[in-house]
Amino acid sequence: MKSKLRNNSILHRSLLIGLSLVISGSISTVQASDSPFAIAIHGGAGAIKQSKMTPEKRQAYEAKLNEAVSAGYKLLAQGKSSQEAIIAAIQIMEESPLFNAGKGAVYTFDAEHELDASIMNGKTLNAGAVSGVKTVKSPIALAEKIMEESVHVMLSGEGAEQFAKNKGLTLVENNYFNTEHRYNSLLKAKKKLLEKEQELKDFQAAHKTLPTEYKVGTVGAVALDKDGNLAAGTSTGGMTAKRFGRIGDAPIIGAGTYANNDSCAVSATGHGEYFIRYHVAADICARLQYQKIPLAEAADIVINDVLVKAGGSGGIIAIDAKGNIAMPFNSEGMYRASKSSNGQSYIGIFRNE
Ligand code: ASP
Repeated sequence: MKSKLRNNSILHRSLLIGLSLVISGSISTVQASDSPFAIAIHGGAGAIKQSKMTPEKRQAYEAKLNEAVSAGYKLLAQGKSSQEAIIAAIQIMEESPLFNAGKGAVYTFDAEHELDASIMNGKTLNAGAVSGVKTVKSPIALAEKIMEESVHVMLSGEGAEQFAKNKGLTLVENNYFNTEHRYNSLLKAKKKLLEKEQELKDFQAAHKTLPTEYKVGTVGAVALDKDGNLAAGTSTGGMTAKRFGRIGDAPIIGAGTYANNDSCAVSATGHGEYFIRYHVAADICARLQYQKIPLAEAADIVINDVLVKAGGSGGIIAIDAKGNIAMPFNSEGMYRASKSSNGQSYIGIFRNE
């Protein structure tokens, strides 16, 4: 009887404390600051060769990765959504000539730029994607508009550009995306391709011989916000010297981008044809959801086993609903960075960094 009374008074006291916390508004602060939030970004798996990396180049890449990841993190810390955070981070990389997305996008075989992007919201499973646009300054902004203000998931080419114009997005001339270093890459890639095509008498076979650095490079971000919602986004110029309206994995939901609050959010970079066929982003989330294995394990199996056996080079960044982050890649490097509310932040380019 005595102990029942004591328990009752403890209960009473806790209720009073709880009530006063709610009244003072501090309970929501306690809960909010306890909710983990984090962001991870990549600037493509087509990292320049370690042997060609100079301290100046490294510094430039690291500074831009830091700017992008910090911009997204700041929004998350302010209580903004994971969707807003990934857009902010991706747009900083789209505007930088260092990465193959937006300004600095690679050239097609015909010396133009054709851009792809996609976004997915892990709470609603809404998604938006755009492929083959030539004049939209921020393809990720267009993917978001398609997700939120159209009845479709993916728009391509002229229709996508018309939609962007109707929605008041910034349009630019195609040469806005030009950079000298990407043009030089195109010239080198075409020379190699034509030589190999003559030797092998087969363009597809010749294309397979192009070194990885011509094939990969993209930007992407994944995030978990304080409300427990995941989002993923990817934006790219595709592959150097791509032909005939080629679309890669970046705008394909489930291949280059996927997000689901029940499992994880993933953004990929790599040889898109493999990422499409192996449905890489969705496969990682499905393994997590159905096999109940940790994110790092699911991501590692898909990138370093399934894809390696298939011959597909590249990597991914991923985050789960608890804020765990995985960033595996099977290429020589992958520009990547992350920042979490647990105080951990990371920037790396090559292996063992
Ligand atoms: N996945 C992109 C594509 O195939 C390129 C990349 O990520 O490097 O278009």
